Amino acid sequence: MYKFYFNSSIKIIDDIWQVGGSDITESGDASVYLVCFKNQAAVIDAGCGKGHEQLVENISACLPENVELSHLLLTHCHYDHTGGAESLRKQFGCKVVCHELDAIYLEKGDNNTTAASWYGAEIQPFPIDIKIRQPITKLYFEHGEILAYHSPGHSPGSVVYMVEKEDKTILFGQDIHGPLHSMLLSNREDYLNSLKLIMELNADILCEGHFGIFRGKNEVRQFIGSYLVS
Ligand SMILES: [Zn+2]
Ligand SMILES: [Zn+2]
Repeated sequence: MYKFYFNSSIKIIDDIWQVGGSDITESGDASVYLVCFKNQAAVIDAGCGKGHEQLVENISACLPENVELSHLLLTHCHYDHTGGAESLRKQFGCKVVCHELDAIYLEKGDNNTTAASWYGAEIQPFPIDIKIRQPITKLYFEHGEILAYHSPGHSPGSVVYMVEKEDKTILFGQDIHGPLHSMLLSNREDYLNSLKLIMELNADILCEGHFGIFRGKNEVRQFIGSYLVS
């Protein structure tokens, strides 16, 4: 039977939407965000893949006409953020971006380091088109840019993405809350250093992977700071 899908995305500010997440697409999905520039757009994270049709419906509904979804930016390798990556690449023809230290586990299809085994799932190996290797990387779009900051700790190749829109700094920090676990190759010292770096970015809006959207510098600082305990 054919199933109909309706747009269930949430607008954050002009040109930025939440298009996926546990309440929006599928219970196993971490948040998925869409950032549009004049004629190119990026999706940040992909969910686990089980909500693919709903996610495609939401992205397609938000994506303005003549804007190409050119990039899928992965914050890290965990299954709830990446299980749907290959399906999105096939659907939209976008390039997949990930830090090289987490790309290894996606290209190998490592069910433990990607946490797929925690979800009783298997991750199918897939290639990463663009590997981030520097502490700070500028990703260029035709009419905009997104900065990627390497922020290891939760996983070795965790990255936060930052974009400036409407005089506001919007930070996509997907698993700022952790958790830290040996199976995920977490590192507590790296994690605390990364939290300090993320705090210094002084964002106006924080889009988190599981805890929603924080608005205002104070609220953002409070959330990040609540994990800064040694
Ligand atoms: Zn994670
Ligand atoms: Zn997560």
